[in-house]
Amino acid sequence: MTEAVPVRTTCPYCGVGCGVLAARTGDRTVAIAGDPDHPANRGRLCSKGTQLGETVGLSGRLLHPMIGEKRAGWDKALDLVARRFQETIARHGPDSVAFYVSGQLLTEDYYVANKLMKGFIGSANIDTNSRLCMSSAVAGHVRAFGEDIVSASYDDLDEADLFVLVGSNTAWCHPIVYQRIQATRAARGARLVVIDPRRTETCEDADLHLPIRPGSDVALMNGLLFHCLRAGLVDEAFLDASVSVPQGFWDMIGQGSDLWSVAKTCDVAPEQLLRFYDLFAANPRTLTLFSQGINQALRGTDQVNAIVNVHLATGRIGKPGAAPFSITGQPNAMGGREVGGLASTLAAHMDFAPDTVARVGRFWSAPRMANRPGLKAVDMFRAVGEGRIKAIWIMATNPAVSMPDAGRVREALAACPFVVVSDVVADTDSARFAHVRLPAAAWGEKDGTVTNSERRISRQRPMLPLPGEARPDWWIMAEVARRMGWASAFNYERPADIYREHARLSAYENRGTRLFDIARHAAIGNPAYAGMEPWRWLERPFADGRFPTPDGKARLVSVVQAVIAEPLRGWPLTLNTGRYRDQWHTMTRTGLSPKLARHREEPLVEINPYDAERLGLDDGDIARVATPQGESLFRVATSEAQRRGEVFAPIHWTDRQSTGGRAGLLPRPLTDPHSGQPGFKSTPARLEKVAIEWRAFLILRGEAGIGGLPDCLWATRITVTGGSLYELAGIGEDKTIDAFLPAGDRIEAVDPARGTRRIAVIRDDRLAAVLFLTRTGELPSRDWLIAQLEAPQVAPTLLAGRAPGVALDRGAIVCSCFDVGMKTIVAAIAERQLVDVAAIGQALGAGTNCGSCRPALARLLADAACSREKIHAAE
Ligand code: SF4
Repeated sequence: MTEAVPVRTTCPYCGVGCGVLAARTGDRTVAIAGDPDHPANRGRLCSKGTQLGETVGLSGRLLHPMIGEKRAGWDKALDLVARRFQETIARHGPDSVAFYVSGQLLTEDYYVANKLMKGFIGSANIDTNSRLCMSSAVAGHVRAFGEDIVSASYDDLDEADLFVLVGSNTAWCHPIVYQRIQATRAARGARLVVIDPRRTETCEDADLHLPIRPGSDVALMNGLLFHCLRAGLVDEAFLDASVSVPQGFWDMIGQGSDLWSVAKTCDVAPEQLLRFYDLFAANPRTLTLFSQGINQALRGTDQVNAIVNVHLATGRIGKPGAAPFSITGQPNAMGGREVGGLASTLAAHMDFAPDTVARVGRFWSAPRMANRPGLKAVDMFRAVGEGRIKAIWIMATNPAVSMPDAGRVREALAACPFVVVSDVVADTDSARFAHVRLPAAAWGEKDGTVTNSERRISRQRPMLPLPGEARPDWWIMAEVARRMGWASAFNYERPADIYREHARLSAYENRGTRLFDIARHAAIGNPAYAGMEPWRWLERPFADGRFPTPDGKARLVSVVQAVIAEPLRGWPLTLNTGRYRDQWHTMTRTGLSPKLARHREEPLVEINPYDAERLGLDDGDIARVATPQGESLFRVATSEAQRRGEVFAPIHWTDRQSTGGRAGLLPRPLTDPHSGQPGFKSTPARLEKVAIEWRAFLILRGEAGIGGLPDCLWATRITVTGGSLYELAGIGEDKTIDAFLPAGDRIEAVDPARGTRRIAVIRDDRLAAVLFLTRTGELPSRDWLIAQLEAPQVAPTLLAGRAPGVALDRGAIVCSCFDVGMKTIVAAIAERQLVDVAAIGQALGAGTNCGSCRPALARLLADAACSREKIHAAE
């Protein structure tokens, strides 16, 4: 097949919304490049976007509708879904059913889901997994601005003089935004302050890192505002013209906001705090970016408003390079907000006021409008568990892993009379509870629009045909709606039909009352929709000092620092959860990429060495992390980047990839009172070492490893080039793993005295599997053995674990693009005396493509310099 012309589309991962050029190169292969003409990324992609081509295969795809474990035709499956929802509604009312949707859905999918539930079923029980990542930002925006408006744009990244990143590991979670920040710093000397309890890679090159006590953000921001007040930085003219100040606001700001009190509350040095204040004072063009560290908190909305207050009071909003900036986690969290995909909003940035409900009802010609907010995610699954919701449809998300207290969510789904799952993946942890599974279109097949963090609408375009019987989500929902009796209201033939209707609704009886108004596309033709260029629906919010409130003024919101609870008795640590650089959500897509998988091969619990020593933990141990909700196992990694008393675990691992590592089990189902967003960032926890008697790894060729996991205490699986790699550990009998070894000729070496077993299985004259197990010693590097999966001949030194005379161990992968490992980089820094990131790039290539690993390279250089200094001091 000759290479096709690249299709201009959009990355399906984070809310940066990078433009991608995707050229089909074979049946299911695609060449990926950044789109130089997309304003979000101007040709750059991070490691996840760069490796998109590795994720478009059909491994693990759901290709046919399934009723139970039986394949069914579309008609039969859709009839069943429509009938069961109708019967449930007829017997128990509209609030007995629910949709749980996703920021992965395209805007057109989201629109149909929202219309069906809120206008036709007559309930607002539709919520989205975006509830888990940014609903506090939504609530904060509405409180301050009167509408959910993100008040900055990516242009501001080029124009700011000071970047303040709060609760955001931008280098890992929004890498292209981080690269744009770094470019502005290099070009114009802009400064960077990172406020984060963890010393993440984002802090590596910062001018200042404030490792504040978790949950002390309101005190920090109120303290900053108090400092601004005393320093004469409050913009009185702007306040008079554009901002309502509640009574007693300034008294509230002054309470406990002197430098010493704030330093104590935030647990940072006063000098460091003053440095932050001085940087803020000196740079009117300040852009404050915030993300999950702010939103995923029990006082998340107050934290958002504390940030917004500072910007409003100092007039740093609506001006070039000056604004608070909520950066969203998911590719279409913003599109979901625009259609009203949250249970707490109605549609097109409208709420549930009676006249609004009537207006949307008129527009949709809706027979049964929801007239009050529905259940937010945590409450929704609680209602499922309590039997109040009897039928739920889950689309493009995996709540059995991602919800807090996910064990309870599993129990709820197991007891629910009717569960429908639409997904691209056949076997997710949530799909295991489904009565009906519906095969949805994946990235590369989908056709529609998404909105990124800066309100820019971009097209996702297909470059691959729909495989099997997969169908777009909007089509699936419209078919169910027709079968429920609403054929004419859901008579869409193409995504453009839905987009036009969405645009018309945004403008309907708007008259300037809502800033979200995309009337210019209300009559967009099909060719124009097909060729739509990325565009922003609001260029510079609030540039005229007007806000979408009845009096046109924004509002300062009185927020006080909540008491930060001391560790609970029996739960001396605080667990924080978050993302890895090279994985996305529950790894259903990024987990297919061998290059991405090797950045972090196992789920690690990161712990300060001081705490680790107290608990008798070493790097590489297995630890049980327990919280009041449940417990899970993790591999231990000590790290000075963690504050004492706090531990961090990733969110990505599921039952499909690991016997432990499920972080979703652990957080409490407690939520912010305004937004309903769970407080993932601070869960009382304890750790204990788990005794193991043997450690092993198993490498399997091909797809043999897709099926399950060996039955032992610790088992994780990742995709590697040519097959799968398992890391294993256990106690007692170790022969259970043998069941995973395929048939073939065996070469075996057993040393009972040292407790080692090494087995290679050869089939068709090639390596099919290799198992290395030890009870007392070390295991060899996996790199060379993995490479043997694709070697044309069987190497004679297989059971030595390496090529003759060569000890190849590059360590954990740092640069995914060029497969460069940590040990290789550390050795090169020492041997070739490399002093900066550019020199590493010249020597090894690392960091010269997508750039996602540059902060990690900077950290390795800093560590090496630190070691050299220590040696000199000792001399
Ligand atoms: Fe995709 Fe990376 Fe861009 Fe996010 S920063 S949209 S993950 S390429």
